[in-house]
Amino acid sequence: MRKIERRAAVCLLLAFCLFAGLALYCYRFATQGSDWVTFTANRHVYAQTGELVTGQILDRDGDVLSTVEDGKRVFHEDATVRKATLHAVGDREGNIGTGALTAFSDLITGYNPVTGSYTASETGNDVTLTIDAYLNVKAYQALDGQKGAVAVYNYKTGEILCMVSTPTFDPNDPPVISADDTSMEGAYLNRVLSSTFVPGSVFKTITLSAALENLPDLFDRHWTCTGSHSVGGVTVTCPSAHGDLDINSAYSNSCNYVFASLAAELGGSTMEKYTKQAGLMDSYSVSGIKTAKGTFTLAGADKGTVGWAGVGQADDLVNPCAMLVAMGAIANGGTAAEPHLLLDDETTMTGQLFQPGTASVLADMMRANVVNKYGADRFPGMDACAKSGTAEVGGDGRPHAWFTGFLRDPEHPYAFVVMVQNGGGGSSVAGTVASAVMQAVVDKY
Ligand SMILES: [Zn+2]
Repeated sequence: MRKIERRAAVCLLLAFCLFAGLALYCYRFATQGSDWVTFTANRHVYAQTGELVTGQILDRDGDVLSTVEDGKRVFHEDATVRKATLHAVGDREGNIGTGALTAFSDLITGYNPVTGSYTASETGNDVTLTIDAYLNVKAYQALDGQKGAVAVYNYKTGEILCMVSTPTFDPNDPPVISADDTSMEGAYLNRVLSSTFVPGSVFKTITLSAALENLPDLFDRHWTCTGSHSVGGVTVTCPSAHGDLDINSAYSNSCNYVFASLAAELGGSTMEKYTKQAGLMDSYSVSGIKTAKGTFTLAGADKGTVGWAGVGQADDLVNPCAMLVAMGAIANGGTAAEPHLLLDDETTMTGQLFQPGTASVLADMMRANVVNKYGADRFPGMDACAKSGTAEVGGDGRPHAWFTGFLRDPEHPYAFVVMVQNGGGGSSVAGTVASAVMQAVVDKY
């Protein structure tokens, strides 16, 4: 009898181990199955060289950006298209982590937990991106060899139409990049999604949003800019004396003195609150790709530091994609669609990045910038609203040129961001890129 009891206990224990093992396997299969299939040693979908040899990547109007020929991964037939879409599509070697070939590898292999990596039709592995290769080429050409980031998205649907990062290279013929080659510095990085930069004066829009909601007499105030002032014990300079200003002319002339004074008056914790609310300190998930978080932590800082931070200097860092979404929200009454890269993705909206009334005033003042300062004829037929930025980067480096904004038009609900690294003047350099790209957008769509 004792013997039978002992054997029954052993059997029960074995049965328990079997079910526990099965449960663990099922859990891992569900959570990690796509990783197993897209593991580069899987010769069903990867060649010996580690490249994906299944599936195509298409742009929004069906141009084949990457396909497989004779067991080898190849890219678009035109070299300029290949370079302009490199960071959206990716490379054979997987050096560009945010490229579709890496980021969407589970979709490209056609993996699903029921059928594995096999699909019913030959085109089942195709992945269609929201980008338009033609617009990427326009942006790449407008950057004209400079390092930078350009993005355009539809703030009502979230579709990213244009996403270019430079320096870039031809994925059919990838270069060997040496560590001391500054011309190719950060070539594997998608500057739109994965980098942060000093924002300079484009950040004044955030300071302005905080001032609009916290300083009831803002539109009655007047300042006289002499070109150099002390704010909180720190000298704040403008490129030249702006003279007599109200808030409208201070914004369109981008007066550092006025905006540093406003930020110092509002204080570090208020400025931080509005920066966070605008989404500039958070990461977005762009079809699963996490964007880089910006930084702005000044709750306890002295007035001089808060002043410089309010004009987008100090230690502020902003991700171009987050700035793009903030522009979309200003255009769209305070909330915008979150950006995505897969055409099949559904639209999801951000939280309230700006109060609706504040967004409306900001949009009017950004429109006035274009009309009074940047030149409406650079955006012909467009209700373009914008803010430029020329961000000092310290040392001998030329400033980063920024130009961000949107079209206030239900037919063309597009926001844009242009950042030219060490490019110089915001309106002259980055504004020229924005003008070329937005003209291509409205001509085609
Ligand atoms: Zn000034």
